[in-house]
Amino acid sequence: MDVDVRLVPCLSDNYAVILRDRATEATAVIDAPDAKPIEKVLDAEGWKLTHILITHHHGDHVQGIPALKKKYGATVVGPRAEAAQIPQIDVEVGPADPVAVGGMLARVIETPGHTAGHIVYMFDAEKLLFAGDTLFALGCGRPFERPASVLWASLLKLRELPGDTQLYCGHEYTLANARFSVTVDPKNKALAKRLADIEALRATGKPTLPSTMAEELRTNPFLRADDPAVAEAIGMNGADAAAVFTELRERKNNFKG
Ligand code: ZN
Ligand code: FE
Repeated sequence: MDVDVRLVPCLSDNYAVILRDRATEATAVIDAPDAKPIEKVLDAEGWKLTHILITHHHGDHVQGIPALKKKYGATVVGPRAEAAQIPQIDVEVGPADPVAVGGMLARVIETPGHTAGHIVYMFDAEKLLFAGDTLFALGCGRPFERPASVLWASLLKLRELPGDTQLYCGHEYTLANARFSVTVDPKNKALAKRLADIEALRATGKPTLPSTMAEELRTNPFLRADDPAVAEAIGMNGADAAAVFTELRERKNNFKG
């Protein structure tokens, strides 16, 4: 399947992602932090927005909806559980509802934690995951509306996805995440190398996305809370994975990198 993907930096550190099916010209944006930069890319390419796929209700993911909808009349798709908080939502979805964008088909995966109704969109055929604020490169979202243990269970679902799945997420937090990650997984050589790569990318203002699930499994401590090396590094040898995850999340909240 021929698809175009464009990462669109928005606000201070958000990303929207534009996804287009060349055959049908259906064009979606995943999350809408700010209409202007999204419109700029669409206009430069001569593309017309047909779908807006929302991962969760936070303002920095939905506030661009009204302007985009006004200009393009795109269909707004979002999590049923957060429908009341998503402006101008047209289609409410849950895990039983496939989301079609032209010839592309996304599966909805419920990933509560950061927010109670957070969903991610997995395009299985294209191997593209749009993870919003659930999973970041080398990090994960803060569990605001559900306990950390619930977010851990959500991340375990994402861990099942194929290793060559490309990961797109809602923010460019990778460098800060990498600096934290090496403190809780200090013997991980792949992680040490990745930190160096990320520092080089960010030094020249380049995005660190997309990542891949295989790379995250090797290096993201928040997907490795059941790895004895991570438990040992934070002094929790033999502890339950959800407890290790909760401690990792706590340390990240307090980390001054
Ligand atoms: Zn958020
Ligand atoms: Fe966000």
